[in-house]
Amino acid sequence: MPFHYVPEDLACTAELCEAVLSLCGHALDESLGRIARVLLESPQGGYFHGNSPEKSDLAEEIFHGNAFFGRYAVSGRIGGYDYMDRMRLAALARLTARLLQARADADRSARQFEKAAEQLLLQTQVLDQIHESVITMDLTGFITSWNKGAEKLFGYAAAEIIGRNIIFLYENEDDEEEPSQDTFLQQGGREMEVRRRKKSGEIFWASLSLSSLRDNTGQPVGLIGYFMDITERKQAQEKIHHLAYYDALTGLPNRTLFMKLVDQSLVSANRNGSNGALLFIDLNRFKPINDTLGHAIGDQLLQQVAIRLKDALREDDVVARLGSDEFVVALFDINQHYHAGFVAQKLLYAMENPYLVEEHELRIGASIGISIHAQDGADSETLLRLADIAMYRAKKSGGNDQGSYAFYSQEMNHTALSRLHIETGLRRAIGNNELLLHYQPKINIEDGRIVGAEALVRWQHPERGLILPSEFVPIAEESRLVVRLGEWVLEAACRQAAEWHRAGLAPMRVAVNLSAGEFTLSLPDRVEAALNRHDISAAWLELEITESMLMVGTDDVIAIMEEITALGVTLSLDDFGTGYSSLSYLKRFPIHTLKIDRSFIMGIPDDPNDCAIASAIIGIAKQLQHRVIAEGVENAEQLDFLRNQGCEEIQGYFFSRPVAPLEMAKMLMEDRRFGLV
Ligand code: C2E
Ligand code: MG
Ligand code: MG
Repeated sequence: MPFHYVPEDLACTAELCEAVLSLCGHALDESLGRIARVLLESPQGGYFHGNSPEKSDLAEEIFHGNAFFGRYAVSGRIGGYDYMDRMRLAALARLTARLLQARADADRSARQFEKAAEQLLLQTQVLDQIHESVITMDLTGFITSWNKGAEKLFGYAAAEIIGRNIIFLYENEDDEEEPSQDTFLQQGGREMEVRRRKKSGEIFWASLSLSSLRDNTGQPVGLIGYFMDITERKQAQEKIHHLAYYDALTGLPNRTLFMKLVDQSLVSANRNGSNGALLFIDLNRFKPINDTLGHAIGDQLLQQVAIRLKDALREDDVVARLGSDEFVVALFDINQHYHAGFVAQKLLYAMENPYLVEEHELRIGASIGISIHAQDGADSETLLRLADIAMYRAKKSGGNDQGSYAFYSQEMNHTALSRLHIETGLRRAIGNNELLLHYQPKINIEDGRIVGAEALVRWQHPERGLILPSEFVPIAEESRLVVRLGEWVLEAACRQAAEWHRAGLAPMRVAVNLSAGEFTLSLPDRVEAALNRHDISAAWLELEITESMLMVGTDDVIAIMEEITALGVTLSLDDFGTGYSSLSYLKRFPIHTLKIDRSFIMGIPDDPNDCAIASAIIGIAKQLQHRVIAEGVENAEQLDFLRNQGCEEIQGYFFSRPVAPLEMAKMLMEDRRFGLV
C-alpha cells in the first residue's frame, strides 16, 4: 500500500535531515526520538541504540543493508496503533537508515581526506629535509613541485618556478632530456650528467636521475627528478684530465693526447683518402742555453717557442710538446705532400727572431723531420718514428743557422728541395733580370694577318738554361711571389708595346696572362699606371684571365673587370672549357674574347667529342657576342675545321711558336700573313 505523506510527515522529514546533518551523540538520539514521538503522536518512546525498552506498543529496527543503526519504539497512545502507523514508523526508519548511512560515508571520506592531507604534509617535510633537490614535472616538462633542496641549489623559490617549463633551467635549449620520449618512459628512468643554470646565471654541473611518475592505472603522468651538484667532482676530473693529457709547462697537448688525436683523425683520413703529415721539431742550441742560463730561463724559452708555433699554425693543426726541447705538429688534410715543407719553412721563420727572456736575447733554430700519411706510414706510432728519423737527417745536413727540414721519403726530399730552389731562385731572378717574355702571334683566320701577340714568360736560369712557365708559375702562385712576377710581366709587356709603337707599328693587342693572386682590387690602378708610364694607348693591351678567377666573390670581380675595360683594355677568358662557368654566369662579365683551350683543339678532327666541344664553344661565343680564338692550332685540319665552324682567330705552332721580341717585331714589320709565309 502506497505511503502518503501528510504535512506533519514532511516537517518530520525535514527535521530528520537537519538533525542527522548537524547533530551528533546524545543530542541526535534525542532529536530522533522526538521526531518518532511527534510522527506517531505517542507520549512515550524514542530512538534507541541497542534494545528498546521491553514494553513498547510499536517498534521498528533501523537497517541499511547489513548495517544496524538502532531502532525506534513508541507507546502510550490512547487508542493504540494501527497498520498505517506501523507503515509510517517503517518509512521513518528507512529514511533514518539512509541518512545515517550517508552521514557515516561522509565521515569516513572526511577522515580519509584528513589522513591523506597529513601524509602529504609529512612527505613535503621529508622532501624538504633531504639535501637533494627533488622536482616533479608533468609529461611536457612543466614543473609541478620543487623542494627546499631545489630552492637552495637553483636559487629559485618554489613559487617562482612551479608552472614554468624545465627548459628554463637548461644551459642551452637543445639540451638532452626530453621528458615525453616514449623509450625513456618505458625504461622507467635514467641517470645523466647535465649542465644547468642557476638564478644567479651561474652554470653548474649536476647529476640528474629521472624516473617516471605513474597514476594508479600505471599510466605515466610525469617525472620526478633528483639533482645533485657535482661541479667540484667535475672540476677535479678536468684537473686530472688536464694533468694526464697536457704539458704542464707550455699548456700544449702532451704525447698521449697527441697520439690519440692523430689516431682519431687517421681513421677519417683513411676513409676519405686525404693527406696528412707529422712534423717532428727539435730545437737547435737549446741545451747550452738551458745548461748555462739555468732551467728557469730554459722553461720560459720553451713557453715562448710553444706560443710562436701555435700562432704560426692553423686552428685545425695540432701542436704538442713531447718533452725537453721536442715538439710535434700534425697537419691534417694538406692538399699536396710537399705543402708540409712549406709549413716546416713557415715554422722555421716563426722561430727565427730572437727571444727575449728576462734580460737575455736568445736565438735558437730547429730541425724538422716530416713524415707523410699514408705514403710513409698508416698509424701515429710509425709516423712519429719516421718523422724522428727524418729530423736527425735534417739536423745532420746542418742547413743554415735558422734550421732545416727534411722529409722521411728521399723522393719527397728531392721534390721539396727542387721546389725550394725554384722558389728562392725565382725571388732572385726577378731582381736579376733573368726573366724574359716571348711572344706568340694571334692570327685573323680570314686574312691571315697578325692581330695580337700573347706574352709568355720564360726564365733564363744561369745554370739550367731556359725554363718554361709551367715549372715555376705554379710555385710562384703558391706564395706571394706571384704578385711580383705579375708586376714584372705587365711592366715588360708594356715596355715592349711602347717600343713597337715608337717603331711605327699600328696598335696591336699584347696579351698578358694573369694569375688568380693578381686579380685584386688594386689591379685596375696598376694597369692604368703601367699604360701611363709607357705612354701607350689601352688598345695595346689585353689581359688573359681564367675561369677560376670568376668564381670568387662575383660582385668584386665584376667591379674590377669593369674598371679595367673602362680603361679600354680588353679581357679574354683563357683555357675556356676546362672550368665550370655556367652560361648565365658568363653573360654578366664584360669579356671580349673566349679562348678555346688547347686540350679540345688537340683531338680535332678525329675525336668527335673535341669537335663537338670546340664548335659548341664557338656557338656560345657568337650567342654572347664575344670574339673567339683557338689556341694550340698545330695543323691544317684543325685550321679548316675551326674556319668552317666560324672561329675568328687562331694561335698555335702551325703559324708560329712563341718567339723572342726581335723575331716578333720582324713578323710585324713584314706584315707577315698566314698562308703567305
Ligand atoms: P696559356 O696562357 O694557355 O698559354 C698557352 C701555352 O700553350 C703556352 O705555353 C704556349 O707556348 C703553348 N702553346 C701555344 N701554341 C701551342 C701549340 O700549338 N702546341 C702546343 N703544344 N703548345 C702551344 P707556355 O708558354 O709554356 O705557358 C704555359 C702557361 O703558363 C700559360 O698557358 C699560362 O697559363 C702560364 N703563363 C705563361 N706566361 C705567364 C705569365 O706571364 N703570367 C702568368 N700568370 N702565367 C703565365
Ligand atoms: Mg694564356
Ligand atoms: Mg691557354
